[in-house]
Amino acid sequence: MGALTKRIEHWIRPSVRTLRAYHVADAGNMIKLDAMENPNIWPGELEQAWLQALGAVQINRYPDARAQELKDALRTYMDIPASLDIMLGNGSDELIQLLQLAVGGPGRKVLAPTPSFVMYEMIAAAVGMEFVAVSLRDSFDLDAHAMCVAIEEHQPALVFIAWPNNPTGNLFDTQALEAVIEASPGLVVIDEAYQPFSKKTWMSRLDQYDNLLVMRTLSKMGMAGLRLGVLAGKRAWLQEFEKIRLPYNINSLTQTGAAFVLEHQGLIGGQIEQICVERQRVIEALQAIAGVKVYPSHTNFILFRVENADTVFMRLKQSGILVKNLNGVSAALDSCLRVTIGLCKENDAFLSALVQAA
Ligand SMILES: *Cc1c(COP(=O)(O)O)cnc(C)c1O
Repeated sequence: MGALTKRIEHWIRPSVRTLRAYHVADAGNMIKLDAMENPNIWPGELEQAWLQALGAVQINRYPDARAQELKDALRTYMDIPASLDIMLGNGSDELIQLLQLAVGGPGRKVLAPTPSFVMYEMIAAAVGMEFVAVSLRDSFDLDAHAMCVAIEEHQPALVFIAWPNNPTGNLFDTQALEAVIEASPGLVVIDEAYQPFSKKTWMSRLDQYDNLLVMRTLSKMGMAGLRLGVLAGKRAWLQEFEKIRLPYNINSLTQTGAAFVLEHQGLIGGQIEQICVERQRVIEALQAIAGVKVYPSHTNFILFRVENADTVFMRLKQSGILVKNLNGVSAALDSCLRVTIGLCKENDAFLSALVQAA
């Protein structure tokens, strides 16, 4: 073994060495339907106004550490009650990490249903927390009983619930979630990354529970490149988390850019509506293809099962279409693919390639 390898093996924590970096596929010139991005670009005059706003940013100065203007805009846009605090992250991924850092330590556990968003588990490994996975039912519904039994047994510091869930696309039953919140000794984070497409939220119920937090992101609604995640919850909790937030985690361009976008909600809202209409059209078209099983979606993506996901994935790729292959990720997702709703013509290209491939 080389000296460098030895040194690395000595110093890098074993839990980090066994991790595999989050894989982002290179889309090249392909139609990119793998990452839940909003496919729309802006009209030219709006882009000009946006560039002007960004041009006024003084990048020689540090950003506003409290991002007050942006928080005020988010509070209005997301209907965050005045009694609650807001914390911002460099994407909600950073908020997931920050929450785990705040509660982590020897013997501390994170619990989440599975299959769900992979970052909950990857970050747990990175920060040295034990991750407890509780299987969803075959229908991908939350198994409230199994969740409560696991919560009782493991006493998790944090429970993450993606609502709607990624990669399954469904909304878990509200009563099942209430049972989970009430059974949890620690914090329950409801990750509403797809709220723009589900229109449902726990935001208005945050006041009711001492251990509930709601997380949002601008990524899926059309600003994945800005990297802005939003956490809402009771002040007493957020004051603690603020202590470990890096002071300038939201850069000036993101603060100005996001505030600008929120001033043009009409445009974003229109794009979201169009994505929801397309979602229905793609679901119906998928249902008409023999050998394809489609799952319901409250998001901007659709989970579907085919006879041989690896083959179909490769054939789609050869036709210039990149979707997400979930085959092999977990037994529950065997033969499953996930497609993000794209532009009309992109969805058409996907559907006709799938007819050939499936
Ligand atoms: C995409 C996604 C996120 C990450 O969002 P960012 O704000 O881009 O980091 C978080 N949670 C779920 C469930 C997601 O699907």
